Amino acid sequence: MKTVAVVGTQWGDEGKGKIVDLLAADADVVVRFQGGNNAAHTLVVDGRKFILRLVPAGALHPGKTCVIGNGTVVDPFALIEEIDHLRANGFLHGENSLRLSYDAHMVMPYHRAIDRGREARLGRNAIGTTGFGIGPAYEDKVARSGLRFADLVDFRSFTARLERNLAEKNAYLKSVLKTKPIPAADLVQSMKTVRKRLIPYLADTASFVYAAYQAGKRILFEGAHGTMLDIDYGTYPYVTSSNCLAAAAHAGSGLPPGKLDAVLGISKAYTTRVGGGPFPTEIKTAVGKRLREEGDEFGSATGRPRRIGWFDAVLARHALRLNGVWGLALTKLDVLTGIDPLKICIAYERGGQRYDEMPPGRLGLDKVRPLYEELPGWHQSLQGARTMADLPPQARRYLERITELTGVSLAMVGTGAAREATIMISNPFR
Ligand code: GDP
Repeated sequence: MKTVAVVGTQWGDEGKGKIVDLLAADADVVVRFQGGNNAAHTLVVDGRKFILRLVPAGALHPGKTCVIGNGTVVDPFALIEEIDHLRANGFLHGENSLRLSYDAHMVMPYHRAIDRGREARLGRNAIGTTGFGIGPAYEDKVARSGLRFADLVDFRSFTARLERNLAEKNAYLKSVLKTKPIPAADLVQSMKTVRKRLIPYLADTASFVYAAYQAGKRILFEGAHGTMLDIDYGTYPYVTSSNCLAAAAHAGSGLPPGKLDAVLGISKAYTTRVGGGPFPTEIKTAVGKRLREEGDEFGSATGRPRRIGWFDAVLARHALRLNGVWGLALTKLDVLTGIDPLKICIAYERGGQRYDEMPPGRLGLDKVRPLYEELPGWHQSLQGARTMADLPPQARRYLERITELTGVSLAMVGTGAAREATIMISNPFR
């Protein structure tokens, strides 16, 4: 297969970064198609840890082209910082190593200020955003007042639009959110640097992606966040501000419909979420704390502790169907070592009614009672396991049960944070 999308099937942080990084070895082009630097992939390469927020994970393989597509919103200052860090570590040096869409919208400092101001005002009801301004930037995109990278080309008209936006945003910051306004002169000045640094990367990325497709290149689409954070199909309003389903890979990159060969769904062997919102299988006992520590479940974008839960097959079925998933990569199986028994949620129950599928509109998801099946755990370390036969029988049974409950075959199993700690059952590019 030539075109493959990797998407999260839970609430993000499924470990997509490692899988994208693995697959990127076989890809020619790696594309981000939605989200911004509120996503963060943590990759461990040769013992060095990298956190990528905007640049696709392909950057850690020489000779690939990384594309930041039109569906993303990009904080130009964060991007420059990431480029500099990668370059200082020997990456992103090739001439074609990074292309940034003219059509991508910019996340401006006023978006960040609004995001933070609003979350502070919401207090206990906060959405739990990263505070990086992603939501407000998407709002402006839809309101048709956003600033695209294309706008930087004519800096005079860009400045006029920026000043107009800023006057409105500053009034809102001051009078509604009671926070400090942003000085226009400073912002215009720093945008001059942005222009100089980022214009060389700008490209018509949709044409570029299509040309690569026509030339038979292998293209990897790197999803951010997860299905339960999707603006339409997630746990609204505790969601991100973009569609993060595989379908968004088309609109967000310019790849025409029908040209995506496979979707790889990524799921943890258990479940986590950051921030507020319903979480049926959340574990409130010491087991949750133990999984959080063993799995290092602290947000890579914000450092916040993640909420921990059992594997939820109802949620998985919802996500796998919406994404048309071809294969499932189950990560962090090693983290479950020593937890005995293990639980898998097979259905929900509420008011005497059983739900085998997600309730319509995810209504009452905060009130459902998960129905669990218990499976025996294992105590042997999974370190060094490279084939299914290397796994203890209880671990194989756990995986088998997940396959039965979801109806999707396993393509990969993660047994550790490093690139090589992966059982590769089927690689969509091979
Ligand atoms: P992403 O946003 O979906 O890429 O997920 P993150 O990068 O935020 O979180 C995944 C974390 O889990 C990273 O620290 C990875 O190094 C780590 N990780 C990924 N796969 C595995 C695995 O199979 N086992 C263990 N122990 N860690 C893993």
